[in-house]
Amino acid sequence: MSSKMENLEDLYEDLLKDLYSAEKQEVKALPKMAEGAVSPDLQKAFEEHLKQTTHHVERIEDIFAGLGETPRGKMCVGMEGLIEEENEILQEDAEPIVTDAGLIAVAQKVEHYEIASYGTARAWAEKLGYDDAAHLLQETLDEETMENEKLTQIAESHVNMEAR
Ligand code: FE
Repeated sequence: MSSKMENLEDLYEDLLKDLYSAEKQEVKALPKMAEGAVSPDLQKAFEEHLKQTTHHVERIEDIFAGLGETPRGKMCVGMEGLIEEENEILQEDAEPIVTDAGLIAVAQKVEHYEIASYGTARAWAEKLGYDDAAHLLQETLDEETMENEKLTQIAESHVNMEAR
């Protein structure tokens, strides 16, 4: 059953539920990404981002606890599609370093998707007067941004060259 969207508060909660589903899907996908990567720095980046991502899940749970509600009940279809792209790369019969380049590319799509959503969520939290939530969302946004930059750095430092 879908509930009626009446105001920014409804939209905000819906977006956070979407992000909650996205983060939980990412928690499941990242170990496979780490396992599928051959470059040690890329494996490490995925493993470290997994730890961060479990905190991202907890932050959303904390925000909903503050609202006296639960973030469950929504499926993020955007992340579902991106994870399907990751699985396609993992299943491809490719040179390992080429797989790494492909994994970086799709992992950066995931980070950009999250950066877009967290930017909106933080702006709405501020507008709604949820300062604590806005602060938590900004922390996650910063970590997603740093992860994206780390992936660029790994690609440009050696993976793209080796895959060429
Ligand atoms: Fe992320």
